[in-house]
Amino acid sequence: MNKQVLITGITGQDGSYLAEYLLSIGYEVHGFVRHVAMMDQSKRLGRIYPILNKLHLHGGVIENYGSVFRVVELVKPDECYHLAAQSFITESFEDGHTTLNTNIIGTFNVLSAIMELVRDCRFYFAASSEMFGKAIESPQNELTPLHPCSPYGVSKVAGYDLTRHFREAYDMFLVSGILFNHESPRRGMEFVTRKISRGVAMIKLNMVDSLHLGNLEAKRDWGHSRDYVQAMHMMLQMDKPDDYVIATGETHSVGEFCECAFEEVGLNWKDYVVVDAQFKRPHDTPLLLGDYSKAKAAIGWEPTTKFATLVREMVQGDMALLGEKP
Ligand code: NDP
Repeated sequence: MNKQVLITGITGQDGSYLAEYLLSIGYEVHGFVRHVAMMDQSKRLGRIYPILNKLHLHGGVIENYGSVFRVVELVKPDECYHLAAQSFITESFEDGHTTLNTNIIGTFNVLSAIMELVRDCRFYFAASSEMFGKAIESPQNELTPLHPCSPYGVSKVAGYDLTRHFREAYDMFLVSGILFNHESPRRGMEFVTRKISRGVAMIKLNMVDSLHLGNLEAKRDWGHSRDYVQAMHMMLQMDKPDDYVIATGETHSVGEFCECAFEEVGLNWKDYVVVDAQFKRPHDTPLLLGDYSKAKAAIGWEPTTKFATLVREMVQGDMALLGEKP
């Protein structure tokens, strides 16, 4: 019988790439989705629409233990990837309660249900480089002290600690992937990279004449989601559970992302980008740069998509969505 996998957050960027990847290597893929998603499939299931007939979806409420318990009991997964989260950092400043509730209680619910029902299930928690926040060293690795700078970062530290706690207390195979930023043409519209690629396409097509952004100096380590979901899977195939940083080891500023994206359509970013204070965060993380040497040595993972290729793919994706080729 094929291995059963449960993915929470299957409708998101990573969930959609992960589902495609696991289907391609023979898994039976189940997704935990919000009830509302089942009622509005063409809109809320957009990223997984092309593979919908190959998936088993289960509606539920991640913040409700009974709901999570029911789905885990039904699926009895061999592997579980817990990706569901309020993942937009700016939103976590505006609605910290929802972020903490979904991200911390949701994680506690999934871990508790697995502990009760399928203790041999291998579990992946989507931790984040935002846990490093105001990092005291660069690049950051698995031993770098955590200093989150947002409710989102705090919620991920709690999930990371819960995962470690369950692993140690109940001797279960639970891992956290500390993933640095990863993007793709499927990135949510609210994230800065997608805002740029979408904005560039709209400017090129004369739909708008400027792009308003916050902090152009913020530096991030940006990889491709397609590469990163493979690392999640590789972590769960190891002999022992452990936590790994997944990154590219390169850092680029938001300004550089703009430069590269505008170049793709033959424009100069300085003619269109406007710095707008309303898009600055109350507390920003100035620089994130990951050291993925542990993952490279232990699980044999390396990123394959270079920064310029990622930016190009995103701009081309948005041009295509708006009906034009660059
Ligand atoms: P997305 O924002 O694209 O996807 C988030 C997923 O979580 C969606 O499926 C969303 O469902 C689901 N979700 C959100 N709130 C709830 C809720 N209350 N109940 C049930 N489901 C919910 O994020 P990514 O795919 O980019 O990221 C996947 C995970 O990895 C997240 O946990 C994120 O925090 C983490 N991460 C991401 C990084 C990145 O750079 N992309 C970096 C490090 C960590 P719906 O579609 O219904 O809203």
